[in-house]
Amino acid sequence: MTIAADLYIDGEWVPSANRVPVYDPSDNSVIVEVATAGPAECEAALAAADGAKESWAATPPRVRGEILRRAFEIMTAEADRFAELVTRENGKVLSDARGEVAYAAEFFRWFSEEAVRISGDFRMAPGGDKRILVTHQPVGPSLLITPWNYPAAMATRKIGPAIAAGCTMVIKPATETPLTTLAVVEVLERAGLPKGVVNVILPVPVGSQISAMLHDPRITNLSFTGSTEVGRHLAHECADRIVRTSLELGGNAPLVVLSDADIEKTVAGAMVAKMRNGGSACTAANRFIVAREVADEFSKAFSKAMAAVAMGPGLAAGSQLGPLVSVKERDKVAELVTMALDEGAVALTGGAVPDGGGAYYPATVLTGVASDATILDHEIFGPVAPIVVVDSDEEAVALANKTEYGLISYVFSENLGRALKVAEGIESGMVAINRGVISDPAAPFGGMKQSGMGREGGFDGIHEFLETKYIGFEL
Ligand code: NAD
Repeated sequence: MTIAADLYIDGEWVPSANRVPVYDPSDNSVIVEVATAGPAECEAALAAADGAKESWAATPPRVRGEILRRAFEIMTAEADRFAELVTRENGKVLSDARGEVAYAAEFFRWFSEEAVRISGDFRMAPGGDKRILVTHQPVGPSLLITPWNYPAAMATRKIGPAIAAGCTMVIKPATETPLTTLAVVEVLERAGLPKGVVNVILPVPVGSQISAMLHDPRITNLSFTGSTEVGRHLAHECADRIVRTSLELGGNAPLVVLSDADIEKTVAGAMVAKMRNGGSACTAANRFIVAREVADEFSKAFSKAMAAVAMGPGLAAGSQLGPLVSVKERDKVAELVTMALDEGAVALTGGAVPDGGGAYYPATVLTGVASDATILDHEIFGPVAPIVVVDSDEEAVALANKTEYGLISYVFSENLGRALKVAEGIESGMVAINRGVISDPAAPFGGMKQSGMGREGGFDGIHEFLETKYIGFEL
């Protein structure tokens, strides 16, 4: 497999003398050394995005849509190659990587369909004195920053709507996982994307160079996915020039099991909500809030399922749980578990770093977790499930809302009305009822509170890359 490992600027693959290793987290071996960007490369990327903005905005929506459609078809045809690359640089098991690649390609298909449906409005003003015309125009060169946990989908979820809207862009993937983004861009090149529309940089050091770009008048929009901590910092940076900002940040998802839940279905949903991507998902169930009536039955059945999860290298047949992306990330998870055990929790399964190399952490279930335990305040980002027992639906909702995050929540109940009442009470941008996964390119993805602002996917996603303009006139 040839791996693109240079920067991509103005339609050219740009090598650089300064390169950094990209590691395979299953054994810490180096996959390839990737080119990094200094101030000259960042400037070139900005100049390319700025230079192409007018011609790209004027390109017919049908043409933009057809490029995306071709990219969807190429990515789908080459899904195995993509999945292997995702697994190699991220560590997730191949089945998770295949799921991610299919999901990622769907953003290109969805936004190929949205490109030709950017609508406006034309009507008489209520006072009859004028006509109101509302149109939507591309916001302009956008800076896209993505995390390591979904290197394919987080890239296409931003690149897709930006292309559909007629925006040029500079994208900065995570330093841990830049190779998938470069492969996605290579597909867009083959699909016929004109030069300058998409540019990929990997600035090292990152903070000062991204800050300089956000203070450059050529950048008009930031779309960021990553931690709340970095998102907050970038929001401050954007404030200086009032750069338009959409932020997809961290989560601390509650999974609420009501007293009438079907335990078999709940365990199946909980396994997906917790273990998809090895728990390294912003949508991962992070706090299991379980009604006392079913707490024992759920805990036993869930820990049995978690104990049966096979851990091993992502590419090995039979692996269901790969390593975390790095030893550093693994150690953060281990520290949270140790803290929970010190505070009185009991591990029904897992709970310790295994012997041997690689950034592995086993599937872990903790019971006896108090409602004020430290672990509940943190995004675990690993395969660890703390269970807290509650005595009423109201207590469950109050505990679910006891966090600064509000991305997604899960509710399990056999009574839809009761589940909907709980769903309405929980402060999160998305709620899954009796399902462990609801992400869909056709639905609005995003959070409340400190999980971010703006939405990706659905009908809303393209509007993160469009300005609304009102033109008033008399006939
Ligand atoms: P991170 O915030 O550490 O990094 C995200 C990106 O920001 C990376 O590309 C990183 O290199 C870059 N970055 C870091 N410091 C920066 C700075 N000072 N200036 C500019 N860029 C900087 O997050 P991560 O560890 O890569 O990803 C995990 C986090 O992402 C979790 O909190 C997870 O919940 C969140 N996430 C959210 C969503 C969502 O849609 N809400 C999706 C996936 C991941």
